[in-house]
Amino acid sequence: MRRDQHLSSAGGMLPDCSSAVLRRPRPRQHFAGTMRVPYIAPWTGENAPPAAITTRHGRDGMGIGYADEYGIADRRRGALWIRVPVRPGAGAPLLDRVHALRQRQAMNHLLCRYCGRPTDDRPDGRHLFLLHAGTGRPVTDGERTTTPPVCDGCAVEAWGRPSARRECVAVWVEEVTAWGVAGDVYAPAPLRPVPGERGERFTLVAYGDPRLRWTLACREVVALHGCTAVDLEDLRERTVA
Ligand SMILES: [Zn+2]
Repeated sequence: MRRDQHLSSAGGMLPDCSSAVLRRPRPRQHFAGTMRVPYIAPWTGENAPPAAITTRHGRDGMGIGYADEYGIADRRRGALWIRVPVRPGAGAPLLDRVHALRQRQAMNHLLCRYCGRPTDDRPDGRHLFLLHAGTGRPVTDGERTTTPPVCDGCAVEAWGRPSARRECVAVWVEEVTAWGVAGDVYAPAPLRPVPGERGERFTLVAYGDPRLRWTLACREVVALHGCTAVDLEDLRERTVA
């Protein structure tokens, strides 16, 4: 059914994405030597001590919050978001880490995780994702991920690195829908994060899950529908040709 639906980059995502993307200036591309610094990578100048978490009575009941919490900067769709400075280019890039708010922005607006440009300009409306191969199992419909999409150029560039070929699988995705967040789930008394399941760094919590009120969101999680494996060698040949 989903494969037959009209494809839209906004399907299930934030309603303001198209106008926001049109207004957004092209992000500045930073390099570490000859390597492109991913758009979602944090910088040492964006380090900050964690903000104090407290309990609060929200619309849906008790949960966590900030004492000086304000508007959509701190809370999206019921989830409290981690506070991190936004100063891309300040200091040195941390290439193996993820900046929580740029990751969320890339997911909500379907921006390339490497260059930060929109990936919703293909005639067929599909998006390209480079996902960690993990257990080696195929990507299935409804796959959940915290990894934003990639544009063709950056996918080909990434595919040129042996590590990407070893560790990633590439898929075309027909529809991307908001699923939830990944973050730290807090226990109320004493108020502190609960260790993740199976030793995972973050716990995945769906929108609508009662635990969302007790979750400090660190990543946006989307679900991928209409997934088709891609041979990036073909894409590379077409792009280079
Ligand atoms: Zn790109």
